[in-house]
Amino acid sequence: MAIVYKFGGASVKDAAGVRNLEHIVRLAVNDQSPMTNDHSLMVVVSAMGKTTNALERVLEFIHAGKEEEALNQWVDIIDFHVAIMRELGLQPGSDIRLQGEIPYDPARSYDENYDQIVSLGEIMSTQIIAVYLLKQGLSVEWWNMPKLLRTDDTWREAQVDNAASAAAIRAGWQRSNRPQVVVTQGFIGGTADGRRTTLGREGSDYTAALLGNYLDAESVTIWKDVPGILNADPRLEPDTILIPELRYSDAVELSYSGAQIIHPKTIRPLENKRIPLYVKPFGNPEAGGSCISAAVDHPVEVPVFIWRKNQLLITMRAKDFAFVLEESLSEIFDIIHRHRLRVSLIQSSAVTISVCVDNTRFVPAAIEALKEHFLVSYNDQLSLLTIRGTTPEILDRARAGRTIMLSQTTRRTARLVIKNETN
Ligand code: ASP
Ligand code: MG
Repeated sequence: MAIVYKFGGASVKDAAGVRNLEHIVRLAVNDQSPMTNDHSLMVVVSAMGKTTNALERVLEFIHAGKEEEALNQWVDIIDFHVAIMRELGLQPGSDIRLQGEIPYDPARSYDENYDQIVSLGEIMSTQIIAVYLLKQGLSVEWWNMPKLLRTDDTWREAQVDNAASAAAIRAGWQRSNRPQVVVTQGFIGGTADGRRTTLGREGSDYTAALLGNYLDAESVTIWKDVPGILNADPRLEPDTILIPELRYSDAVELSYSGAQIIHPKTIRPLENKRIPLYVKPFGNPEAGGSCISAAVDHPVEVPVFIWRKNQLLITMRAKDFAFVLEESLSEIFDIIHRHRLRVSLIQSSAVTISVCVDNTRFVPAAIEALKEHFLVSYNDQLSLLTIRGTTPEILDRARAGRTIMLSQTTRRTARLVIKNETN
């Protein structure tokens, strides 16, 4: 059986991180000894540190006609990886040949170029880690997801073809020589005609879940720089509590409300096969962390605070005093869907509809489209705070001193759209 481990960028941001990954991998490998024939560890890795952001900048510079800046940024990225390789005792050029040139083609769209360039972060990190583990004496295979995880060509947000991908991954698994470790990329896939795609920022958790599903894994573990799933963001709340056990449904709700802990698409593929998902601290691999599984049957027992930043509240009003609601809902949501907005909250009155959305690059075009049918106004610089398991006292404290643009509360859950403090 397969066990899937996922390491994010922060966990492999330097040579010490890669050595720590080796340590965690060895704990699992030793744990499984004597290795049965069918037991392998599938290690899914993100780009190292902030490489994805840096690769995004390369393309931005090219697009802005700043070729020299683009090249400097590219060289910095290569140097960063070369320095890590050297520290790990690997020889750049002979052990690993990194991509030499920026894979930019002016004939392609911005988004297609994005995927060809940005996907290299994961290619480089997994090459380095695979070779390093090999040199440390483990048996390793490096898998190239663009050839295995089949997607359509919705650049930057490619949709996975599960049937084709599952077949390819399972065939790879059957063919492989059952190494102790398979090292592969999160976040990226490829089209039928061999072009690389990306699944959306922070998408490597999702890859790990898909691989777990395709291979009927025993478990999936996401190694993070936090002790597990906490009831609040430790950067925002002084006293946080670890949630040791969660139901799948609670995990879905938490991640959709904006908890940055796991990608929202991660849960469904695991829930479908009742595969447990662990979230554990990479700095302390023996610690329990959090477990999301079918065996948990109780709701989360502590109040949970989830902030979703960078929100925009769009309010639509009918142009001709008609009732917006009944007549226009499908039109509004059609526009929202076509422009790939992510809705975090909806509120309606007799004559207006307000939607709170993530303030992404898709928003300006969507607003233009909405303006063709409605009177549109909007507020930006907002955050959405969701409190699950709230009490009147907790809610009062959350409201105190804040400008609340909109609120929705049920007995146990409160959702507040809050104006960001400007100071
Ligand atoms: N490297 C990608 C990103 O930073 C994917 C991931 O980390 O999950 O968005
Ligand atoms: Mg990342």
